[in-house]
Amino acid sequence: MSEVLDLVGVGIGPANLSLAALADPVEGLATAFFEREPEFSWHPGLMIEGAFLQVPFLADLVSLVEPANPLSFLSYLRDRGRLFPFYFAERFHIPRTEYDAYCAWASRQLDSCRFGRQVRGLSIEDGLFRLDVEPGGPVLARNVVLGVGTAPSFPAPLAALAGPAVLHSADYLPARDRLLTADDVTVVGSGQSGAEVFLDLLRSRPSDRGHLRWLTRTAAFAPMEYSKLGLEQFTPDYVRFFHGLDEPTRDRLVPSQWQLYKAISAETIGEIYDELYRRTVDGGWPRVSLSPGVEVTTATRRGERVELGLRHVQQGGAASVTTDAVVCATGYRERDLGDLLGPLADRLERDASGRLAVTADYRVRADLPGALFVQNAERHTHGVGAPDLGLVAWRAATILNAVCGRVVYPLPDRTAFTTFGLPGGGG
Ligand SMILES: Cc1cc2nc3c(=O)[nH]c(=O)nc-3n(C[C@H](O)[C@H](O)[C@H](O)COP(=O)(O)OP(=O)(O)OC[C@H]3O[C@@H](n4cnc5c(N)ncnc54)[C@H](O)[C@@H]3O)c2cc1C
Repeated sequence: MSEVLDLVGVGIGPANLSLAALADPVEGLATAFFEREPEFSWHPGLMIEGAFLQVPFLADLVSLVEPANPLSFLSYLRDRGRLFPFYFAERFHIPRTEYDAYCAWASRQLDSCRFGRQVRGLSIEDGLFRLDVEPGGPVLARNVVLGVGTAPSFPAPLAALAGPAVLHSADYLPARDRLLTADDVTVVGSGQSGAEVFLDLLRSRPSDRGHLRWLTRTAAFAPMEYSKLGLEQFTPDYVRFFHGLDEPTRDRLVPSQWQLYKAISAETIGEIYDELYRRTVDGGWPRVSLSPGVEVTTATRRGERVELGLRHVQQGGAASVTTDAVVCATGYRERDLGDLLGPLADRLERDASGRLAVTADYRVRADLPGALFVQNAERHTHGVGAPDLGLVAWRAATILNAVCGRVVYPLPDRTAFTTFGLPGGGG
């Protein structure tokens, strides 16, 4: 435990991997990043064939801050001898499998990335952070960045039944074979993951097999906002504006922006419709149901099957269905950092709802000797862009500039045509 590191990252998803890539060329900065999994792996349970990244390839680990960094996506293609095929493919959006392979490649270039190491807890020792890393023992650091991602979230009535018959979409692929042969399958949730799971099952299950059902509490199967001006809500300008609002206003705003993060890409909606249409060619309606405005209110195990109590949000009224398997594509929630931050917990500032108070440069307001930063745990303070890959490099550079106490990476003052707030900054 002799060396004291300047910066230690907990977790290696895209967020901390971007930080590791941008920190690598900074001379004299001693860093290490710890990941509990044995290698980089990006949402493996949802790596459905044919699924694409929802952001352009320029939202790689570094390019929106420093395109000349050797770990850009274009550098990856050069390393693999694939620049010409990529050029002729003319694809701004790459397959998810390719993004995963690119990140895995980047992680192998970085000595600072240590896999198969879980951080069990943080404490303070001699004015430094002490991280208990297993295996490997304690590590001392001046600054820490938590990039531990989010955890799958189940609707309350289904949480207690989680298991082989009620699974989260995060675990879809290992269960896929079983879902293809089950008689009656229900997908709950109409975000991008729900749509991808429904489409995959629709395409792959024989058309005469039982019933495929898609339920969502949302009033419609709605398209994701993807207009150019709409996307400016994923710029640093918008993040700054959002961060400057008061807490009740921020809390009202996020749910009203659901079509920015909870909806379905127009392409996937098109693919689902085309597949449904294809199944009517021989006459008759496909053996599927798509029901918006329907909420699961109860879930009861009936032998191997599950009975779901349903309520229509607008109509009222109740119904029930019995199904062999439920896939909850019901999103993710921020991780409970209680275990990790245990002894530090009462030194951290919280907002009126008990959430961490996070400054504009992603530092948790705290009475600590060094700085504790978070990535992708700050939707309540920084808005809907918190998990967005397009902001990953900019956020990492913001953190690095703060850690180094100087402008290591110059960042643009302006990133949107839209003026968020009153003109002239009078807001
Ligand atoms: C299927 C899917 C597709 C998505 N596609 C897009 C997209 O196209 N565009 C977009 O903008 N966003 C997308 N997102 C949202 C977002 O970009 C991803 O969730 C992204 O992975 C978030 O990165 P992260 O680094 O914050 O967290 P994660 O990728 O979840 O990584 C966190 C890592 O921390 C590790 N960890 C946790 N605790 C510890 C510990 N104590 N010690 C060591 N390691 C630990 C975990 O094992 C994990 O590997 C998608 C999300 C999902 C689920």
